[in-house]
Amino acid sequence: MIKDSNWKIIYRGFNPQEESLREAICTLGNGYVGTRGAAPEVTASNIHYPGTYIAGVYNRLKTHIAGKTVVNEDLVNCPNWLFLTFRIRGEDWFSPSRSRLLYFRQELDMKRGILHRDIRTYSRRGYITRIETRRLVHIANPHCLALQYIITPQNYSDFITVRYLIDGAVINSGVERYRQLNSCHLDLAALGSFSRNGVYLAVVTNQSRIEISQAAKLRVFAGRKEVIPVFNLVTKNKLAVGQEFRLKVKKKTSYVIEKVVFLYTSKDQGVTDPIMEAVNSLKRSPRFSTLLSTHTKEWKRLWNIFDISIKGDSFSQKIVRLHTFHLLQTFSLNNVNIDAGFPARGLHGESYRGHIFWDEIFALPFYNYHLPSVAKAILMYRYNRLNKAREYAKRYGYKGAMFPWQSASTGEEETQVLHLNPLSGKWDPDYSRLQRHVSFAIAYNVWSYFENTEDYDFMLKYGAEMFLSIAQFAASLARYNKRDRKFHTFGIMGPDEFHERYPSSPRAGLKDNAYSNFMISWVLTTALELISMLPEEDRRRLFRKINISSNDLRMWDVISRNMNIIINEDGIISQFDGYFNLKELDWDNYRDMYGNIQRMDRILKAEGLSPDDYKVTKQADVLMMFYLFSLREIRKIFERLGYSFEKRMLKNNYLYYLKRTSHGSTLSKVVHCLIAIYLRRNKEAWGFFRKVLESDIYDIQGGTTPEGIHTGVMAGSLDIVIRGFAGVNPIENVIYIKPRLPSLWKSVKFKLLIKNRWIKFTITRKKVTVVHRGHLQNALYACCNNKKVALTKRKTTVLKY
Ligand code: BGC
Repeated sequence: MIKDSNWKIIYRGFNPQEESLREAICTLGNGYVGTRGAAPEVTASNIHYPGTYIAGVYNRLKTHIAGKTVVNEDLVNCPNWLFLTFRIRGEDWFSPSRSRLLYFRQELDMKRGILHRDIRTYSRRGYITRIETRRLVHIANPHCLALQYIITPQNYSDFITVRYLIDGAVINSGVERYRQLNSCHLDLAALGSFSRNGVYLAVVTNQSRIEISQAAKLRVFAGRKEVIPVFNLVTKNKLAVGQEFRLKVKKKTSYVIEKVVFLYTSKDQGVTDPIMEAVNSLKRSPRFSTLLSTHTKEWKRLWNIFDISIKGDSFSQKIVRLHTFHLLQTFSLNNVNIDAGFPARGLHGESYRGHIFWDEIFALPFYNYHLPSVAKAILMYRYNRLNKAREYAKRYGYKGAMFPWQSASTGEEETQVLHLNPLSGKWDPDYSRLQRHVSFAIAYNVWSYFENTEDYDFMLKYGAEMFLSIAQFAASLARYNKRDRKFHTFGIMGPDEFHERYPSSPRAGLKDNAYSNFMISWVLTTALELISMLPEEDRRRLFRKINISSNDLRMWDVISRNMNIIINEDGIISQFDGYFNLKELDWDNYRDMYGNIQRMDRILKAEGLSPDDYKVTKQADVLMMFYLFSLREIRKIFERLGYSFEKRMLKNNYLYYLKRTSHGSTLSKVVHCLIAIYLRRNKEAWGFFRKVLESDIYDIQGGTTPEGIHTGVMAGSLDIVIRGFAGVNPIENVIYIKPRLPSLWKSVKFKLLIKNRWIKFTITRKKVTVVHRGHLQNALYACCNNKKVALTKRKTTVLKY
């Protein structure tokens, strides 16, 4: 039996310094909306930051800064639906950071998707009150949010006043670095009450003109009996609306206050009047206990699909669940009909302004092998912005579709031009937009989704068009050089964001980033394979639509065989042309001086130096190839390119770049961990895995998690468990299984939806048990220890390793 504590993150005691981290970790969400785990009694301050974010609700503002006008599109911090507090007659309003606390415990219950808090507070007059709260963001009804607030006077009977609000007086101020930028996104549209105990508030984003409406209703119970107090309307700064009431409370009696809120926006499908929609939903809404039971029932269903059960290591178990939980809260079934992408920092904070990067390449397997319709929603967000990607390519003289490095509402490039270095206080130019590999990540995801689901309908309607448009872009990025008869790329950046240009070059960008060039070859080769699979009619239609000629196909073939990759005599792949000529950094010295050197770029810049001059890499770049592809696939591409590929290159490149990488992105350790597992560098792999797990729960970057979780590393950790430790790797119709369980683990158990079939895996230290239900139509094999067995024959297959 799984102990309950493996399903809970428990915090004891209130620590103001850790509150912002706890708020991020205790965020509740359902893919449509996320609300940070802030106390209900607070407004934004240097301790608390209640933030509510709705998927796809962005707003664009201009700011004049450092002599330039910058434009930023932000995921909008929406009105705070949560606010509720009370005061005892003659005393101050209760707040956990201002009142005296005798006891504080907060519990994130991941199994049920609930945040509990239990407090005992001590007033000036010596009155002790117990306050228990539970809240949920409904996972099955994405518009419904609810708070239960129970007040129990321990040693007194007196009057209390309760106040609740929908607080529209909020701005985006959750990230200190952005505070010099404009951040007021909301205009009031309407507020008022709609019943004796219900209020509503509607705001409109001042540029994107999205209406966000909330309606809240309060009910009070003393024991089982409903109390009907006299509610008075409260408005604050003309931007908040709520009610107050007085209650005579008795010692040892519990007063249960239920606040239910419905939230709609003008972006919601089929919603013409968000206020009416919210008010009407609220009128029909059941009590908290019923909402809780439908909510927990849906979570149970999701856990039944997604849970990875680990025996022997409760820390890994708990954090693997935390990561699963937050991914499902960020992007879930509720996103299937919402046009919003997979945000790098969740719906948990304002870092990176809620933008969408390439991180979905780390997350796709999670959805692909459990709920493919959700994986498809990630891809559809991109498809819906294909025209913008075409315009973007054209603007820069390329063909096809070039997706932006940072994407938000429209699919325009949202990467900022200036970027604040907190160490130097200077605004530096930001060239990270030159990471063209984001388009190849999208192509890779289209292919992975298709390979697993065999969803021809998707491929014919959307996937092929997207893939081939990216192929057009890839081909146009490659430039032929007569002298070496190779194709090259110029002015681009790889995933390593520390290198933006050549030392002392006035132009940003680099030549021949190996990972990008490799991906170009893969995209073009796969595009040709895809074309050969398309039915004649669809192929013609597509070729006409996006303008592909037979000449293009010939060129794609040539380019895919002649991209330049620089490899030295030890088999080390040069991250880009010129990397080997850069200076070595004195890593030990910097470690001694600074301790934490993850952001070596900022350290060097603050010292007046430039990371461009050094062999210092932010995150896995060359190594991404080994993360995404099997050695067999890599060999195939290398041989196509005319290079020989030897197995030792995996180890040599890993060791070479490991020495020169500062892991300035949490994604870096995911990649290094998986490769260390492949190389059987068990201790190192375990060290990386622990760090991957600790990334958010312990905020290992020292301040980034309070601004939003890292969804890429969360998804990566689950991928490591499945592909790495359990060693389960489906390729075409064979599931390769090569377990490498960490020494602490007794077993690991999970389900995957492979080729539309649920397959259960139980991996112990000696054997693998594969169970499938129902009839397998097409041949599917499991291969372990070089023994290949057809799963079609039996329902349960046991393999020794
Ligand atoms: C990383 C990128 C990543 C982004 C968003 C950056 O720090 O370098 O690779 O996409 O964060 O997570």
